[in-house]
Amino acid sequence: MTPNTRSAALVLAAFFVAGLVVFGNAGHLRTTVATAPEPAPEVAPGGETTEGGSVVAHDYMVAAANPLAAEAGRAVLADGGSAADAAVAVQMMLNLVEPQSSGIGGGAFLLYWDASEQTLTTLDGRERAPLAADETYWLGPDGEPVAWWDAVVGGRSVGVPGTLKLLETLHTQFGTKPWADLLQPTIAKADAGFAISPRLAESIAAAQDKKLDLFDTAKAYFFNSDGTPKAAGTLLKNPAFAETLRRIAAEGSAPFYTGSIAADIVAAVKTDINPGILTLDDMAAYTVVQREPVCVPYRGDTVCGMGPPTSGGLTVGQILGMLSTYDLPALGPSVEGWHLYIEAAKLAYADRALYMADSDYVPMPTYGLIDATYLAERAALIDPDSAMEMAEPGVPPKDHATLWAPDTQVERPGTSHFVIVDANGDMVSMTTTIETGFGSRVMTNGFLLNNELTDFARAPEVDGRPVANRVEGGKRPRSSMSPTIVLRDGTPVLLVGSPGGSRIINYVANALVAILDWGMDPQGALDMGHVVNRNGPTELEDGTGALAHADGLVALGHAVKTGALESGLHAILIQDGRLIGAADPRREGVAVGE
Ligand code: GLU
Repeated sequence: MTPNTRSAALVLAAFFVAGLVVFGNAGHLRTTVATAPEPAPEVAPGGETTEGGSVVAHDYMVAAANPLAAEAGRAVLADGGSAADAAVAVQMMLNLVEPQSSGIGGGAFLLYWDASEQTLTTLDGRERAPLAADETYWLGPDGEPVAWWDAVVGGRSVGVPGTLKLLETLHTQFGTKPWADLLQPTIAKADAGFAISPRLAESIAAAQDKKLDLFDTAKAYFFNSDGTPKAAGTLLKNPAFAETLRRIAAEGSAPFYTGSIAADIVAAVKTDINPGILTLDDMAAYTVVQREPVCVPYRGDTVCGMGPPTSGGLTVGQILGMLSTYDLPALGPSVEGWHLYIEAAKLAYADRALYMADSDYVPMPTYGLIDATYLAERAALIDPDSAMEMAEPGVPPKDHATLWAPDTQVERPGTSHFVIVDANGDMVSMTTTIETGFGSRVMTNGFLLNNELTDFARAPEVDGRPVANRVEGGKRPRSSMSPTIVLRDGTPVLLVGSPGGSRIINYVANALVAILDWGMDPQGALDMGHVVNRNGPTELEDGTGALAHADGLVALGHAVKTGALESGLHAILIQDGRLIGAADPRREGVAVGE
């Protein structure tokens, strides 16, 4: 992994120069609409960075997966907007320029720190299954669960989207700028067009043989008329999305949930292949839920995340809770340190598979899972000298283990995370998704619809025992998204989160341990090669320093494999009055601030 210097100015400039170079090349290869280069957005003067390459700001900051989205948020903050205002602007721009990962056709989880009230709010904007769905939803004509990929493409995988209502709820509660103003930059960009980024171009090309060109609307948007994928630098206009946002700017979320956009979504999911059963009633019934954050003490700090229906906050909390009984800071990123981490991850993922789902639908021992005594007992199962092959789930207080069978559902990458701190100290940590890259491939009104319903277990029962994460009408599929805020003495010191399917939990836990225990600079922590375990083999990130631990881990009995581990972490550390931001080098994001 090339170490990243994260000077905001440098990175932004490099992005746009790279865009131009590719644009030039693309012009040779294909007919690309000639256009003026993207103007480089304004960035904070000075470009102050840490030695480790993190961006330093003093008043406000945003870190997101695309420079145009980060800039949309920065502009709102520079104009005195709140973190909630900036989140609306960032998400709308991400929908346009990183459409493969998130948008109003998907769902999200958000943590909001209100500095004046000193309170942490979590909002659940997760998609819901149609009310008429039941546990047979993912069984094929032969009564067997359909294969994951066979379930993804088409309207059947689409859950009722929650992201727009989440943004509206957030803005109503914490916004200070007019809602319509926050949508204007994306409307203007959708009308004028944006240069397809290198990462979006790669994603389109890679998705061609994964049926991105199956349905006419997505085909026309992402592919040239001769069927080739649109290249980096191509100017992409999205008048349909501009029109959608104009309506939402004027009328709020109503057209989306009860008006003509709802009707278009219901019509769009009736695809020839895998038709969906979403109805107007399903759309109208959607609610955003404010939930209790899930917080665990960790070496004097309090690590807070999102509770069910995501497994993120609980599983990250379990890993840390177990590690808190060991002196990880003294061990550092050594074989011994990683061994403890891996074993804790195995134990946590074993519990995740058995217990975690939408707690509005299944009884869950939510607080038992992060009970300190329980976690100490679980941590005592770790042998410092030898790896367990696979961990068994435990029996947390208020146990329901006998009810459930483990769910082996694995999610695929296609998500984004951003973090924001405003000038008043209000903060956002939000993970947002349409599930796999490009979601269900079904597109309407300029945005893609999610395939989140494939995050449910497709088998409703195993060996006669029901699976907690089986489909039920109106239920939210279990997620791994782990937006996180760490509190010290009652106020936030670190915001972090990532995409990455069920590996998200490991990516976030890796970063928390690196920053909190090993004192790493945020950018250094994000650049660090990943060490991942989901209660199976240990995965080490190819081409990184993580490989140096392979022999030592094998000697302790670990099964080790290597591969690309594509996180998309974004983080802000708050230290000595400074905002220290970092963006994952595996994506094309930036941290910008003032
Ligand atoms: N659908 C996944 C979840 O909710 C996220 C997918 C991803 O990050 O790749 O956990």
